[in-house]
Amino acid sequence: MSDRLAGRTAVITGASAGIGAALARRLAARGTHLHLLARRAGRLEALADELRTGHGVRATTHGIDLLDLDALRAFWRNLPAVPDIVVNNAGMAAGADPVVLADPADWDLMMRTNVAALMELSRLAAVDFAARGGGHILNVGSIAGHDPYPGGSGYNASKFAVDGFTRALKMEMIQHGVRVSLISPGMVETEFSEVRFKGDRERAATVYKGIEALTAEDVAEIMEFILDRPPHVDILDVVVHPTQQASPYHVHRS
Ligand code: NAP
Repeated sequence: MSDRLAGRTAVITGASAGIGAALARRLAARGTHLHLLARRAGRLEALADELRTGHGVRATTHGIDLLDLDALRAFWRNLPAVPDIVVNNAGMAAGADPVVLADPADWDLMMRTNVAALMELSRLAAVDFAARGGGHILNVGSIAGHDPYPGGSGYNASKFAVDGFTRALKMEMIQHGVRVSLISPGMVETEFSEVRFKGDRERAATVYKGIEALTAEDVAEIMEFILDRPPHVDILDVVVHPTQQASPYHVHRS
């Protein structure tokens, strides 16, 4: 195991649950100091406590709603130093209705959370990383950003946007020595479906019925690998499915 992540500082959005929390645990175990962002500050504080005690890293919590871009800008401005790594992980789906039945408020929420906040934090990081000549931005996309599916329109639009934005940023950053990466998971069993179906746990459980979905830990392990590459190596995208899934359409349920 390299010591490349030791003593580095990473910002992780959406660290209060799922993939973000799993990544925070993995990076802390490698000696990375952390800035953890999400709305549920109590959960972040409990996680930060665990990581400080367990691994002796600095872990600072930021109870921020990413819909508030001014709060995000203030967070960046007030950081004690420019971090080494920014992970834009926070994201959500709202609803799975066809376009003719969709609630535009759901679209707005997804576009603001998954796209506008990710773009703004990437921009803030890119400015400082380019000036310094180094840094790593890792964005969490989805297979929904590669393949559309009926009922996915709003979420698809947001994750296709993440894909396009990340690829364009990658092209712009090569002259600055800044790494830009993406990971595009298939089904991961987290709070994601419960959020998508607005607290309907029964409906959320049907998403994972008869399939061994990816865990947050599975995805975080790959993200750690991406972040741990030597400085001259930059992984642009990893598409990862459960073995029983091949696309949003192709799911083999036992
Ligand atoms: P999750 O368990 O629901 O976690 C989502 C995280 O995002 C939470 O920490 C949540 O924190 C944060 N978040 C959501 N809205 C926010 C806001 N307005 N402001 C600040 N933080 C916000 O879901 P997950 O599966 O780990 O999702 C992580 C990423 O993976 C997302 O980008 C998702 O689109 C992507 N992804 C998930 C799957 C899947 O099947 N689960 C598949 C492909 C891609 P608070 O609620 O505390 O704010």
